[in-house]
Amino acid sequence: MSEREQVPMDVVFVGAGPANLAAALHLKSEINKHDDLIEKGRKKGRKIGELEIAIVEKGSFVGAHILSGAVMDPIAIRELMPDFIAEGCPVDSVVTEDAFWYLTEKGGINAPLVPPPLKNKGKYIVSLSKVCEWLGEKCEAAGINIFPEFPASEMIYDENDAVIGVRTGDKGIDKEGHKKPNFEPGVDLLAKVTVLGEGSRGSLAKQLMSRLGLMEGKEPQVFSLGVKELWEVPEGNFAEGKVVHTLGFPSDTRTYGGGWIYGLKNNVISIGYVTGLDYEDPMIDPHAEFQKFKTNPKVAEVLAGGKMIKYGAKTINAGGYHTMPKLYADGVLIVGDSGSFLNGQRIKGIHTAMKSGMLAAETIVGAFEHEDFSSKTLRHFEEKVNLSWIYDELHPVRNFHGAFQKGRWSALINTGLQFLTRGLAWGFMPKEHHVAGHERMEKVGSKQLAVSSDGFGPSDHLKLERYAGAPFDKELTFDKVTDVFYGAVAHNEDQPSHLHVLDTEICATRCAEEYGNPCQRFCPAAVYEMEDNAVSGRKELKVNFSNCVHCKTCDIADPYQIINWVTPEGGGGPNYKGM
Ligand SMILES: Cc1cc2nc3c(=O)[nH]c(=O)nc-3n(C[C@H](O)[C@H](O)[C@H](O)COP(=O)(O)OP(=O)(O)OC[C@H]3O[C@@H](n4cnc5c(N)ncnc54)[C@H](O)[C@@H]3O)c2cc1C
Repeated sequence: MSEREQVPMDVVFVGAGPANLAAALHLKSEINKHDDLIEKGRKKGRKIGELEIAIVEKGSFVGAHILSGAVMDPIAIRELMPDFIAEGCPVDSVVTEDAFWYLTEKGGINAPLVPPPLKNKGKYIVSLSKVCEWLGEKCEAAGINIFPEFPASEMIYDENDAVIGVRTGDKGIDKEGHKKPNFEPGVDLLAKVTVLGEGSRGSLAKQLMSRLGLMEGKEPQVFSLGVKELWEVPEGNFAEGKVVHTLGFPSDTRTYGGGWIYGLKNNVISIGYVTGLDYEDPMIDPHAEFQKFKTNPKVAEVLAGGKMIKYGAKTINAGGYHTMPKLYADGVLIVGDSGSFLNGQRIKGIHTAMKSGMLAAETIVGAFEHEDFSSKTLRHFEEKVNLSWIYDELHPVRNFHGAFQKGRWSALINTGLQFLTRGLAWGFMPKEHHVAGHERMEKVGSKQLAVSSDGFGPSDHLKLERYAGAPFDKELTFDKVTDVFYGAVAHNEDQPSHLHVLDTEICATRCAEEYGNPCQRFCPAAVYEMEDNAVSGRKELKVNFSNCVHCKTCDIADPYQIINWVTPEGGGGPNYKGM
């Protein structure tokens, strides 16, 4: 029997992202609608009445850990709240101009045609963090309980493996694992339905999928890492409402990658670079790829005379329809990025995350109506998804990312063919479409790789001099530690590391030899360092967990899969206010 406080709720949402915030709001209004129809005798059945609904969020406030581009397709928010603009939704600008640049090292061209999936005219440029803060206020006004600084650290199951809630993380444990005077045990939030909307690589979703085999018969998820800065630039450098997507430099043709520049109000721009975490070259450093991207003359021209004001990084689940887990089990639903709802071809997941949340809410109303919270009723969620516009949008592009694993040129041909075949193009290939990223990383053999003096990364590259010649000048390009400062990242240092490296001996031996310790490069926040150890006479792993921006890259990209990201003490992490 648990000694922890048990708090009975009806529905618990894990994560205050667009998926769960839309879900909770929609749940409230759908229940009101349902009860009203019954009261008026226009619907048969029983009233549901007031439900206790909670949203737990690990960030210090709603929006603190939300990082996106972001161009928002308003299709879902319009369904949620038709008058969202009049209701005060903080959209920044309307997209007025689209461009697609193909970049080379020394320049680039404006493509004469913008690929249709990247046409955004009329959509909204937003700070998703601000939109989530606003949605959080709407939820609270509707009577939904929001608990920031409450990470859900474990799923709670009954004896039949049905989910019956979540345990929140303990507070006040020191780095040796002892209780401090301010120790507060986490609570058990018991719920009839738990909804996981933790975003990309959710830590509970990972536990759940593995325990209940929800990925059986599915293809492995593939991820990308988006590294972003906000800049203030001189008037005239880049128009408000302009949206640029790029292909080419600095990614090589075997590596999935592309950049974006979005013009916000007051000469602020969102600029970033996405690198597929299924790259082959273990020397790739996605943060350095982004820095290199900014040195392209066409991009540097946009930033000339400006200053960086904020930094962040976050993974994106890119596999889409083929890599969707089973979305339900007894007592639980998975929504948003955790459920692979992002459209990789459009690099858009806000609208699909929201819609998935709304469909989950409608499923939950049915479950309460029939007082059945098992898979028997919750399976309707998957049916609703497949009957909605989510299916119409995701199914035709189901082979988009998989095709990139064969290289850029074949992927572009495949993308064209997709339009003609409604997505079948790469599906003609007999092999599986997606391979887990960490399985694609190539070994470097026994070469020991030194970090070059320019600071961009190792000097002895496996395939190319990827980062040579462009130092971090702290004006246009920044090293990771400086960038982390601009992410306003903070964790109480007197707590156990939330980055569990299951076998550090591998780091000092096999990984050093086989991959040159890629954690030092794939982490965009300088968390992992191989440090000389005077006692052992070799380099040993040092984990600077307090730098962690919660992007989950390490949990995904480690070739041995021995890094387990778990939730730190509540409130720790980046502060992405306004990102
Ligand atoms: C760099 C980048 C650029 C993007 N650009 C665009 C774009 O332009 N347009 C677009 O439509 N989409 C874009 N996306 C995708 C979009 O941001 C996501 O699809 C969307 O945010 C997913 O919403 P979500 O609610 O599923 O998860 P998230 O937005 O990730 O929110 C999850 C929330 O859950 C919290 N959480 C996680 N685990 C726990 C836990 N165990 N306990 C408590 N809280 C927890 C997190 O702190 C976070 O607040 C972009 C994504 C990235 C990373």
